[in-house]
Amino acid sequence: MAIDTAPLRLHERDYATGLIEIGDGCFAYLQPDGGWCLSNAGLLAGRDESLLVDTLTDLPRTAAMLEAMRPITTAAPIATLAITHGNLDHYFGNQLVEGAQIVASAGTAHEMADGPTPAAMAAMVASDDPALGGYLRHAFGRFDWSGIEVTLPTRTFEGSFTVDAGGRRAELIEVGPAHTAGDTICHLPEQRVAYTGDLLFVFGTPIVWAGPYENWFRACDTMLALDCDVYVPGHGPLTDRRGVEGVKAYLQFVYAEARARFDAGLDEREAAFDIELGEYAEWGDSERLAINVVSAYREFDQNRPEPGRGELFARMAELARRAR
Ligand SMILES: [Zn+2]
Repeated sequence: MAIDTAPLRLHERDYATGLIEIGDGCFAYLQPDGGWCLSNAGLLAGRDESLLVDTLTDLPRTAAMLEAMRPITTAAPIATLAITHGNLDHYFGNQLVEGAQIVASAGTAHEMADGPTPAAMAAMVASDDPALGGYLRHAFGRFDWSGIEVTLPTRTFEGSFTVDAGGRRAELIEVGPAHTAGDTICHLPEQRVAYTGDLLFVFGTPIVWAGPYENWFRACDTMLALDCDVYVPGHGPLTDRRGVEGVKAYLQFVYAEARARFDAGLDEREAAFDIELGEYAEWGDSERLAINVVSAYREFDQNRPEPGRGELFARMAELARRAR
């Protein structure tokens, strides 16, 4: 696959798969449409070394990405792999990046060590639960869960960490817990670019796995304060400030709507069905609202019993059926 060098199009729903140059020595690898596990990655290439930001969900996809990067990484091999957060669609391909140090925040490393196994993902796809199986196959059925050996960070940090990629600088800034326990932004100050991991979804619905919401609002403010020209989201097309502002507005909206229903005595399930998403109904996977309401309720009442992952997916499946 050739590198796309056309002028950058930002914040457009329609975008292409593959490697795209976004600044001096820096690239994004994009996977439309950014739905479940269709994640993005980044590359910063210096004189003789590169930094890769995240791998992809499975080995074939990661291998295709590394092949697309080969014209760059032959002269500047990947010496460091930074992982933005502990969701498998950002690290299940790690084993293919041989010989690199793998850096992540301690919170992310912990989550990776504790995360779902490839066998568990394959089992989800094979589920014969009539209410749930179809949704799980829609979300995870297109991926190849075979051959994956979960490959963990070799180096962890708290707060921030500087990477020198052959003379080019990247700053890893930990801002989690928000989407997950250890969310990290990879900022390239000279290129005015940030790889944000899943702190940003563009035209797709953010998921609040961890929270609190307040931390994610603050993470949005941090991203805006970095004043980048290009933000590479974890899912969706390249964006600018509009992508950051959009995520913050969505989260503020859901938080307020959930609060009103909590105060009115609705439970999480009723609240998720009751909230009218308006413009956000157009975003992909809008049924993730079911999880986002649960996370908000957990903040409103810390003693609330929490539904398990299976129950959360069942609620999303129900909400998705209702939306259709
Ligand atoms: Zn992701």
